[in-house]
Amino acid sequence: MENKIENILIIGSGPAAHTAAIYTGRANLNPLLFEGFLAGGVAAGGQLTTTTEIENFPGFPEGLPGPELMDRMRAQSLRCGARIETETVNSVDLSKRPFAVTTDSGTFYAKSLILATGATAKRLNLPGEDVYWQRGISACAVCDGALPFFRNRPLVVIGGGDTACEEATYLTKFASMVHLFVRRDVLRASKAMQKRVAENPKIQIHWNTAATEVLGDGKKMTGVRLVTKGNVSEQILEAGGLFYAIGHVPNTEFLQGQVNLDETGYIKTVPGTAKTNVLGVFAAGDVQDKVYRQAITAAGSGCMAALEAERFLSEEEETGH
Ligand code: FAD
Ligand code: NDP
Repeated sequence: MENKIENILIIGSGPAAHTAAIYTGRANLNPLLFEGFLAGGVAAGGQLTTTTEIENFPGFPEGLPGPELMDRMRAQSLRCGARIETETVNSVDLSKRPFAVTTDSGTFYAKSLILATGATAKRLNLPGEDVYWQRGISACAVCDGALPFFRNRPLVVIGGGDTACEEATYLTKFASMVHLFVRRDVLRASKAMQKRVAENPKIQIHWNTAATEVLGDGKKMTGVRLVTKGNVSEQILEAGGLFYAIGHVPNTEFLQGQVNLDETGYIKTVPGTAKTNVLGVFAAGDVQDKVYRQAITAAGSGCMAALEAERFLSEEEETGH
């Protein structure tokens, strides 16, 4: 039996993948979406399944839980005609067309692909993290910083890159004080970002400092235990929140050697488009974005990928490829 060739195959299940599914479904392209089964350690639905309230996604003035937003996107994809398989893609072969996509249940072929596998925020897995994750601990200040329980409290940010500096600066709007824990005696962040942090009176940098435990009363976080290089004794710092800003890992392991990735593993797209270096393969969402990393920007780039894939397919049809 000849293998079926899909018009469009989408890999991922966050806002980028579902927006792409909604657009290509409505365009009658009958998309097939692989949503993953605990791919990258995250449930189908992506990063928003790991959070509580989403307050900055337009259209939901009262906010809504992250998992509910993703259930709604999934239902909309299905309603628009997408087919969804709860499987993780193990490998792809993009060296020839149709592209081949392999999961545990077999190999699937497609004329075009949208890669939207997202990224996973790194965590330190400190003692206490399981108890206080989302009850004080977060990996996204822009997402969670404005929540009432962070207001007028001392907050801790861990990291020394641009994200840490940006998040520390952002949190000074709400916090009584922001303590930035840097594991070395220098920041990795750009000079401009370093200057902004140094000049902000509400940010205190703790050089050579590591958090060793998250403390709390069982319901909410109240502080962190920390250790400074060269100092044998541990200290306790009162804090109402802890924000990890120690980098993300893009879910691109299975794409090695197939599509151009940057030095940190993010898919490279042609600026201002969703195009990768492989004709017919598009990328959207956090897997190709290490700057904005928001649900709405992921959704927007999913829309771009869908429209570009649709255009690609109709051009291929016109030229008879
Ligand atoms: P992701 O959400 O990263 O999802 C991609 C998913 O694809 C993966 O999780 C996995 O399920 C699947 N996948 C991965 N690999 C494979 C594979 N090989 N095969 C099949 N499937 C695969 N943003 C906001 O705008 N507002 C917020 O309030 C907010 N809160 C956040 C809170 C937390 C704790 C975190 C971690 C992030 C938050 N964000 C928030 C950021 C937001 O979640 C991301 O920007 C957004 O989810 C990125 O969407 P995405 O479509 O790129 O993919
Ligand atoms: P980076 O990888 O640049 O920085 C991660 C930081 O976390 C480093 O300071 C690192 O320390 C620290 N870190 C890593 N692991 C640990 C750990 N286990 N314990 C304590 N600290 C740790 O990630 P970013 O997310 O900051 O930035 C990613 C990319 O995105 C960069 O290219 C950045 O320039 C870009 N970006 C740009 C922005 C902008 O232009 N506005 C905003 C945000 C990001 P160490 O330095 O010791 O390795």
